[in-house]
Formats: sequence, structure tokens, C-alpha cells
Amino acid sequence: RMEKNYYVCTGCGMLCDDIEVEAEKNIVNKVYTACRVGVAHMKEGTDNAVFRVGDKPVDEATAVSEAVAILKNAKNPLIFGLGTSSNEAQKLAIELAKKTSATLDDPSSFRLGSLVEALLQNRFKTCTLDDVRNKADVTIYWGTNPSDSHPRHLSKHSYFPRGKEKQRGWEEERTAIAIDVRKSHTAKICGNYFFEIPPGGDAEFIDALIAALSGKLPKTSYNFPPKRILELANILKGAKFGVVFVGLGLVYSLENLEPLFRLMDALNEKANFHLIPMVGYSNTRGFNENLFEETGYVNSVKFEDGAVKHGPEYSIVESLKAKTVDAALIIGYDPFSSLPRSIAKNLLEIPVISLNPFETLTSRNAKVYINTAVGGVESGGTATRMDGVKVDFKPVVETKRLSDEAVLKKIMEAL
Ligand code: SF4
Repeated sequence: RMEKNYYVCTGCGMLCDDIEVEAEKNIVNKVYTACRVGVAHMKEGTDNAVFRVGDKPVDEATAVSEAVAILKNAKNPLIFGLGTSSNEAQKLAIELAKKTSATLDDPSSFRLGSLVEALLQNRFKTCTLDDVRNKADVTIYWGTNPSDSHPRHLSKHSYFPRGKEKQRGWEEERTAIAIDVRKSHTAKICGNYFFEIPPGGDAEFIDALIAALSGKLPKTSYNFPPKRILELANILKGAKFGVVFVGLGLVYSLENLEPLFRLMDALNEKANFHLIPMVGYSNTRGFNENLFEETGYVNSVKFEDGAVKHGPEYSIVESLKAKTVDAALIIGYDPFSSLPRSIAKNLLEIPVISLNPFETLTSRNAKVYINTAVGGVESGGTATRMDGVKVDFKPVVETKRLSDEAVLKKIMEAL
């Protein structure tokens, strides 16, 4: 039987909810509306379920009880990943971390976590992507290239679409500005409103822009033409509803976020500006919010005797470097492909449990591997979009594989 329905794509933090698919016998044949990343993602399901202890294929019960034994024996296990897990799975992981006195972290500790934490502490004004579509007249993409990382960002929400108050859409009514160290695809779309700055030049550009906003001569050590910064300031001052989309390029370039906070304050003295962090994974923002609600922190925590400790020493990078963790449960992530080899290799010295829909270097080196369902394709739940909006997603096809929520529940029950 052919099926046609609307689904949510969990291929990136946009969680597009208008996806149509055709599926037959649990295989997705056609995907409509999604971008190329989403099409590939929606076809990722398979009906195989793999459970392994060491090199040996085992059944589900053996894999789960081996995972439980590892966590029971560990004094300080690391629980890490969860960027593509549902909110329900993330909440279970937090409970599991409490129960096992674990260190709990996610990729936001070396990505946009500090910015999301500031957002949850109300350090600046933010808004939803629906607000952007309906109201925004000026958007800035700073250190981010959504055309490649969130391919439908510009078409669905921020630049091309028509919104309630933006009937004509894109360049007739919206000004899109890119500030970056290279001419990305997004920067090309922004045409004359692309401001190319040298690597590490963001803080100075911010100061120059703040000066320009109050009518002073903007100066940078790299001699960015003051006239262009003054022109930019004039556009920003006229914004009725402005949005700054901040990516890793900007956050990595700043020593701390203070210059960005100052810029948001300066922009809001003259106009109306919001900031949205360009969160990449489908539910990293959810993890940050769920942990924040529970502990007041968005990542890098250690539970101990009913208390919670927080600091960079509890991030995956620092705890592997210092070898303070003695086991690891890695959910939906492959540290071997993302962290420097010198740090990831320390995982080889401790028992690792890998929950992942895909074979990765981490799963191949794991003591226990549980091949989980692909969220949004083979399992459902709720996730938090990059702008904080909660989205329900449902499976497109059935699978024998367990969701990571189901695996975590089994581990919790057996502990
Ligand atoms: Fe999926 Fe992201 Fe593409 Fe939307 S932009 S279809 S959520 S990958």
C-alpha cells in the first residue's frame, strides 16, 4: 500500500514539518519538499537490527545486560551525544546520569552551548523562525552558511518566503547580510551585502559596527572601509524586525560572548533585533534546554551524591584528556570522526557502549554496540527546533531496531 502523509525531517535543526514521502514495505522510495540532506536522511532506515558485544553478534537482552554491567562497574561513566535523540530519550539520559553518578555532556560543549546558555538566561532577545518568516526585514548571517548546513533556511524562513507581513518576499522587502571570513554560498546570495572580514577579525568588526551605530568613525586594524561599515549601520538602524543568525564561525572567533551582547544592546537602542543560534543537529537545543531545566547548565555536568557539578573539566574533551572517566555511553555520535585523534583515542582504554543507527569508528571500537532506530524515520517523539519551538515527529516506517529511548529505558530498569 502506498502511503502519503506529512512528516518532520530530523536531518538538521530546522525540523521541517512539511515533508511528504512515499513508502512501501518499510522502505522510503520518494521524498518530496525536503532538501538534498533531508532526502538522504529520510531514506536512511533499514530493517536490520545489530547487537554486538566485542566482535560477537548477540541478542538484544545480552547487549543490554552487558551495557548495564559496564555502567554498574564504572565509578565515573561519561554519557555523551544525544543531539539527534528525542526529548524523551534525553530526559531518560539525564535520569541515568543521576543514577550512575555520571559525567554528562553533548557536542554543544565545543560548539554553540555557551550561546544557547546565554539565550536561556535571557541575555538577549530571541524569536522563532515563524516570526522571521512573517516579520523580519533585515537578517544577518554571521559566521554561518545555512545554504549548506540548513539548506532550506533561506527558502523556507529567512529570505525568499512570503510571510504574513512580508507579501513580496526576498530582496524586495528583506535585506540579507552575510558577515564571514569567506564567500560561502550564503554570502553569494547576499550579493553586495557580504562583508568579508579576516579570520579572528569579528570582535573588532563588532566594535567598529557599534561605533558606527552611534555615528562615530568605525576603525579596524585591518582597515575595513569605514564607509561600508557606516552603510551597514544605517541599514541596521532602519530595521523594524532584525535577526542575527549566529554560527560557529563567530563564536569560535570570540574569546567570550561579551562583544556580541554589547552589539545586541547597541542594535536594540536603535532598532529591534533578535538573535538565533544556528544549532546544527535536530535536537541539540532540546538537550540544552532539558539539562538547563534540571540543573541550570546546558552541558558539561557531573552528578554526585544528589548534587550537580559543572565546569569545562566535565566536558567530553577535558574528561577524556584528563582520563577522569572510566566508561562511556555514547549516543548517536562518533567522537572518533569529530574529536582530535589524540583525545578520542583515550576511549580505547575504557569500555564503550555505542548506541547508533550507523556503524562508525566508535561503534566498531565499542565493547557493546546497539544499532538503534533512526529518529524521525523509524521512531517518533518530540524535539526542540533550533529556535526553541517544540515539534512532534513520528516514524515513517517500522523497524525491528529499538529507539534510543527504548534502549535507555531498558538500561534504567535493569540497573
Ligand atoms: Fe531536513 Fe534540515 Fe533539509 Fe529541512 S533543511 S529538509 S530539516 S535537512
